[in-house]
Order: sequence, then structure tokens, then C-alpha cells
Amino acid sequence: MTIRFCALSSGSSGNCLFLSTGKTSLLVDAGLSGKKIEQLMRTIEASPRSIDAILVTHDHIDHISGVGVLSRRFDIPIYANPLTWQVMGGKIGDVSLKNTNQFYTSKEFYIADICIRSYPISHDAADPVGFTFYSRNSKISIANDLGCVTPDVEQEIRDSSFLMLESNHDTEMLKVGSYPWHLKRRIAGEMGHLSNEDAGNALLRLAGGSTKAVLLGHLSKENNYPPLALETVKSILVQGGIEVGREMNIDLSFRDKISRVYTINGQEVY
Ligand SMILES: [Zn+2]
Ligand SMILES: [Zn+2]
Repeated sequence: MTIRFCALSSGSSGNCLFLSTGKTSLLVDAGLSGKKIEQLMRTIEASPRSIDAILVTHDHIDHISGVGVLSRRFDIPIYANPLTWQVMGGKIGDVSLKNTNQFYTSKEFYIADICIRSYPISHDAADPVGFTFYSRNSKISIANDLGCVTPDVEQEIRDSSFLMLESNHDTEMLKVGSYPWHLKRRIAGEMGHLSNEDAGNALLRLAGGSTKAVLLGHLSKENNYPPLALETVKSILVQGGIEVGREMNIDLSFRDKISRVYTINGQEVY
């Protein structure tokens, strides 16, 4: 059975990822307006009506701004961990009790035919998580909004059929850019966002496993350029002796348009 995956939008202006087994469809975060998400979904011939759940990684506004609206308009269950609910609850408006679901970080749960594992990530939110999805023979991992890839995170995402990994900023661009000092320190810090270099080095450590398809995520508008992110990550892999394209395929997600739509079937990703 194949899984379809698409990053409808990724970056600090709004995050929303779509994943579907055909039987079950999920959104990971909904950080754009309900209308915009509906419109983006239409471009991949999907509809919020078919969404079985919205999973929330953390309470930052670029991940939750459309969560309440979509849940109310299309009667969609929301899943978040208790601490995220505590902070998010006041920001997304009233949602019906039956659509208010909790999961516990690091504890697996199922939504129909998808097994979902959340794992803690290093980021300055209430209880931020990454997700790993298992369905049949495929493992799909999402790791955005993390200041560093800890050995535990590395363990969680290792051997994914498909991995979405943050590649937020270029260290030099951030350093010389216009952001105020405290913001630069936050982004570059252990609880902030992953740099292109850190993403490349993490992928180098993961290479040799079964991850053949990687989508770079959450690129900064101010402190990165898509071609620079791609080139930095690729050159780290090439210098590490990895044949990019054959051993590991690297692609980009975007703030202002959808990513490629992936079809994932075990180790085959196309
Ligand atoms: Zn974010
Ligand atoms: Zn965040």
C-alpha cells in the first residue's frame, strides 16, 4: 500500500503537511488560514473533508493558526499532547470536546491504519515533538523546528523510508542579517532552528541506513535561499562520500508553494 505525502507549506509563515494512505488522511500542523489550506489541498486533489485528524507538533502560531477553523468547519479531530493543548487551547478558539484529543509524547497511538509515534525535540515551545508514521512497510519521519539533532532524535528518524528534516538557515546569513541579536541567538541556539550545515551533518550520519528520500523543511525567508540550502546539504553529503541522487535524494519544500507530491511504498519513494 502506498502513502502520499506533500508539504503544502513549510516555513515560518505557515506549516501544513499532508499525508494519506488512501484510507486515512492526516494533516501535520495547520499554520495557515483555513481557506489557504483548503486551496492548497485542492491543487493535489484533496479536501479537508477527507481529513481524519490534525496532529500538532507544537504551539507556535506558524503551526496552529488554522487548526481551530478547520476543525470547526469540517468537524476534524485535533491531536496534541497535554502541554501543547494548555498553551494552544486559548489561541485556536472553541473546538468541540469530541475533537479534542490528547496523545502522550513518546507513546505510540493509532489513527485507523497509521501508527504514530511522537518524540521530543529541542525547541522553545511547551512540549514540541516530531512525528514518525508507520503504515505497512513504510516509515515516514518529520523533524522540523529543532535546535539540534540529538542522538535520541537521530535514533527516532533513522531508517525512515522518507524523512522531512529542517534546514532553516545559513549560519553566515543569520550572523550578518538584520535580525535583532536576541532573535539571532534564539534561532541559532539549541532550542531554536536547525541550520543547513547541521541538517547536512545529520543526514551524513543517517546515510548508509535505508533513508533514500529527504525533503528539507522550514527554510527561513530572511536567512536562507532555497538553492543555498540544497547546495550546502548536498556538498556535506558529497564530501562525506555519499552519492547524492543515488544513495540519498534531497528535495526542497517551500513557503509559497507545495512541495513535490511523494508516493511512498516501503523503500520505494517516487
Ligand atoms: Zn515553525
Ligand atoms: Zn516553532
